[in-house]
Amino acid sequence: MPQVSKFFNRLFSGNSPSADPDATVHPSKARIIPRDQHHISRKDISSSALKVLNGLHDAGHQAYLVGGGVRDLLLGLKPKDFDVATDATPEQVKKCFRNSRIIGKRFRLVHVFYGREIIEIATFRATTTDSTPSDQTISRTCPDSGMITRDNRYGTIEEDAIRRDFTVNALYYNIADFSVVDFLGGVDDLHSRQMNIIGDPATRYREDPVRMLRAVRLSTKLGFTIADHSEKPIAEMAQLLQQVSHARLWDESLKLFLSGHAQETWHKLKKTKLADSLFPQTIKSLQSKNSTTFRAFIEKALASTDERIHQGKPVTPAFLFAVWLWQPMLDRQQNFIIKHCAPAESFNKACSKILAEHHQQIAMPRRFSTVVREIWQLQNQLWKRQGKRHERVFAHPRFRAAYDFLLLRAIPGSEEEKLAQWWTDYQQASIDQRATMVKALNRQTNRKRRRKSGKVNTTSEKGPSRNE
Ligand code: ATP
Ligand code: MG
Repeated sequence: MPQVSKFFNRLFSGNSPSADPDATVHPSKARIIPRDQHHISRKDISSSALKVLNGLHDAGHQAYLVGGGVRDLLLGLKPKDFDVATDATPEQVKKCFRNSRIIGKRFRLVHVFYGREIIEIATFRATTTDSTPSDQTISRTCPDSGMITRDNRYGTIEEDAIRRDFTVNALYYNIADFSVVDFLGGVDDLHSRQMNIIGDPATRYREDPVRMLRAVRLSTKLGFTIADHSEKPIAEMAQLLQQVSHARLWDESLKLFLSGHAQETWHKLKKTKLADSLFPQTIKSLQSKNSTTFRAFIEKALASTDERIHQGKPVTPAFLFAVWLWQPMLDRQQNFIIKHCAPAESFNKACSKILAEHHQQIAMPRRFSTVVREIWQLQNQLWKRQGKRHERVFAHPRFRAAYDFLLLRAIPGSEEEKLAQWWTDYQQASIDQRATMVKALNRQTNRKRRRKSGKVNTTSEKGPSRNE
């Protein structure tokens, strides 16, 4: 991106206020980057976002594009969404746009609707540091944990910048003169490709532990490093994720793993110990002695998810969760079997237990946990191909996911690999060829049965029993 580096080179360098972790952040003078010194063009901003910015400006309010939109445009990337910040209150904003609605209890925001696109408008917000409510305070409670649960006090643009998470996310594009406003050294950090949390990292992670996940997600997406002082406390504070709403963690995990960087994200989550809080059962299984196969299975599944996303193919998060929880489920099933529980019952109990335990970390909606269970159940059904059974398995709505799951977990040279190959051939075969394949299978089974009755020890056609 030569254009981008030219732009950065033209900027004078300065110290990022977040470079000293103990410093209280006081945004002094904003660095204003005029239009002729950056390359954000209105052509790159969605027409809906421009309508909102101009609408607010024409009504006499301040209007800025802010957050990931500005960051991505400066990097020459296509923003995922456009967020707007203004000095107008939600009520004043609502008056400007008929197609708008005030939303949110925690943060009151305005959504403006243009077909399928929604532009989110936030009034400049400040985070109170004392318990004295200001006149403008709507509500905020700050429990002992240090976690912010409500922070709806309106503030100035400088205060709004400080309460954002990373310096690169606190850049403002001013529709009044098309300049970029930088209070906290975000432009320098974009230049040096670093994620710097604003203020004291431990305090900011305590206020909202999801910021630790955002550090991992955004640094991976942008190919940035997390600055040392911003990364260091994460491992010690990772367990704070347990205080975050399980539903919010589900939303965050979709963003983490369905953006085309799942494999790298997983490595960073493990390195920073965030994975221990999000996936404790998986991490426990990975720490056991024979975890090589499971480790390889996860890696392959994440790589294949990334590949599918880059190819524009559909992916379901249920597939990845089925992968992460597979070994924990098998381990649990084994525990039930040791306690003399029948295999089928052990399987059902293990599925329910593992999914219920996992729900304590991440609230996977039922429509997805049902798919996880179906993928697991089909791992057993895929062995059952005689008579008309192959047709039933093949017609199952989850056949394709279960087949992909088998392909990824099959070790070279194993019975599972032979089974996966059989289903690969089956899918490519004509109806007649399929009938021939099943006949051959029946002959093979009969031969094995005869040998068995002659007390010859062989592997059953069903393959190594697992989920019955
Ligand atoms: P993406 O490319 O995923 O949209 P983003 O940075 O734009 O990245 P959003 O969730 O759209 O992420 O958030 C918009 C902006 O809101 C961020 O850039 C940041 O300024 C602010 N923000 C979001 N989450 C937090 C948080 N947990 N704490 C502080 N500020 C936040
Ligand atoms: Mg965004």
